[in-house]
Amino acid sequence: MSTTPDSFADLGLSETLLKTLTEIGYETPSPIQAQCIPVLLEGHDLIGMAQTGTGKTAAFALPLMEQIDVKLTKPQALILTPTRELAIQVAEALQTYAKNLPGFHVLPIYGGQSYTIQLKQLSRGAHVIVGTPGRVMDHLERKTLNLDHLKTMVLDEADEMLRMGFIDDVEWILERTPPQHQTALFSATMPEQIRRVAQKYLVEPREIKIKSATATVAAIRQVYWQVSGMHKLDALTRILEVEEDFDAAIIFVRTKTATVELADKLSARGYAAAALNGDLNQQMRERVIEQLKSGALDIVIATDVAARGIDVPRVSHVVNYDIPYDTEAYVHRIGRTGRAGRTGNAILFVAPREIRMLRTIERATRQPIAPLTLPSRADVTNKRVADFKEKVAEVLNAEGLDFFANIVSQIAEEQNVGAEEVAAALAMMAQQGKPLQIAGEDPRPAPAPSFDSRPRPGSFGERDERKPRFDRGDKPGFENRGERPRREERPTRAAPSGDMVRYRIDVGRDHGVQVKDIVGAIANEAGIESRFIGRIALYDESSTVELPAGMPGEAANALKRTRVRGVPINLRPDEGRQDSGERSFKKKSFGDR
Ligand code: AMP
Repeated sequence: MSTTPDSFADLGLSETLLKTLTEIGYETPSPIQAQCIPVLLEGHDLIGMAQTGTGKTAAFALPLMEQIDVKLTKPQALILTPTRELAIQVAEALQTYAKNLPGFHVLPIYGGQSYTIQLKQLSRGAHVIVGTPGRVMDHLERKTLNLDHLKTMVLDEADEMLRMGFIDDVEWILERTPPQHQTALFSATMPEQIRRVAQKYLVEPREIKIKSATATVAAIRQVYWQVSGMHKLDALTRILEVEEDFDAAIIFVRTKTATVELADKLSARGYAAAALNGDLNQQMRERVIEQLKSGALDIVIATDVAARGIDVPRVSHVVNYDIPYDTEAYVHRIGRTGRAGRTGNAILFVAPREIRMLRTIERATRQPIAPLTLPSRADVTNKRVADFKEKVAEVLNAEGLDFFANIVSQIAEEQNVGAEEVAAALAMMAQQGKPLQIAGEDPRPAPAPSFDSRPRPGSFGERDERKPRFDRGDKPGFENRGERPRREERPTRAAPSGDMVRYRIDVGRDHGVQVKDIVGAIANEAGIESRFIGRIALYDESSTVELPAGMPGEAANALKRTRVRGVPINLRPDEGRQDSGERSFKKKSFGDR
């Protein structure tokens, strides 16, 4: 964080955007923002090596918005993303940053959405288009998208686009953009093909990479919970309740707004909690820290800047409720615990998309961060019962019990019940503010995370972590029927196991279709991650593709209408017909090309 300017105002952004950032609670720029925003505002092309969670969206979105002429209702910026999910997310971010730019219009376009709606929206005029490569290509071909006024082009998660087989489409689009525009390419990694694209299409790009400082944090127990199946707030309170040695905690979030919201929610659940953010003056800030020291507060919810330098020995836990932007921030955050020779605990919440950042942190701190199993309802109940018993035991030793013992005898006599039943009724009364048993279901444990930046969908187009997911166990391939495949494919990628259904589609080699075209179209239109797409067999006029069983109607319908190379694929369950000239291929690993 040492290289990070303290203020967005230092970066050259307009008053309008600065006002918006204050309103939405962004306190300071993240490192990638601090470095990219001035470079992009100066008009340079840029290669940003950054992954999800670093704040890269605002890093390109804010400068891009400064260039938009709202009066001109033509696309002036195009952002390409590998998935529709990301397209929507980026479009939403832009819409948020545009809250003080009346008339600003951003449009996400992606596969799976009806063309009619998209055409209507396009004809109404949008300033920024955020789209997946296939659909953008389609609109360019149909001339329903015109890039004549393009000023900025962003390739977001370029390595993911490569992995999903979209790189040819991306190049096709880049070939058709007007020569005069700024291009920014963001990628977590820099495989050779991405370098090549950058060399070919970017002009003297500035390269920005967030350094990851290595540091040791020996005295601190570090664990992470992969966010799934339960709201972060519920998970947090469960964890805090059963953590051994809990005394006090600092919880880190990203925005000022979030510090206040979380402090309110925790207070409502009975915790002595308060927010600590850059809006507090020095005196108020010191007061909060004093209260944490004295025990008047047990939890402080803070932003990175506000928590700098806090030294409160009783802080037994640091919770990274929102993942930090980089490893430096992580090390700084967790250094707030384990002070004065005490042991500390650091808990990190990681969304599936942020798994890469977790691995980066592990590498930088040279320590594995162990997965944390969320306490079950029974765990929480047991802990609450144990605490309750302890309290009762304390009171049993107190003076003045005789008066109450007498009342209990009277109740027992009047109600004609035993003292035990009276005690049970009193215990029930005593726990009314905080029931000993908690309601609701236990979430299923999250799977071991992969190095992927995206969640593993167990179902089509959803992020429901509770749905079954598929392993990567090998399965025998289709029969080759003695013919030599025209295209050699290295069997580098194991097919997904689990129940698969084979479908037939009406495009094949005669249409010039390649395996990656099919993978790309299906991945985008149905929201199925490429790794869950099984074997693809290319015939001359048609092909077959294996997809996980249980495809919902919506996805199936989207795939019926999907076009590959302009031909409707008409996806339907395969009747088992085997055309002559069939070849079967194991789907290639896109990351390996
Ligand atoms: P990204 O890495 O672009 O996906 O951003 C991750 C999250 O960080 C998003 O929820 C953003 O709203 C949030 N974020 C980005 N920049 C900032 C900032 N400077 N201050 C607070 N939150 C931010």
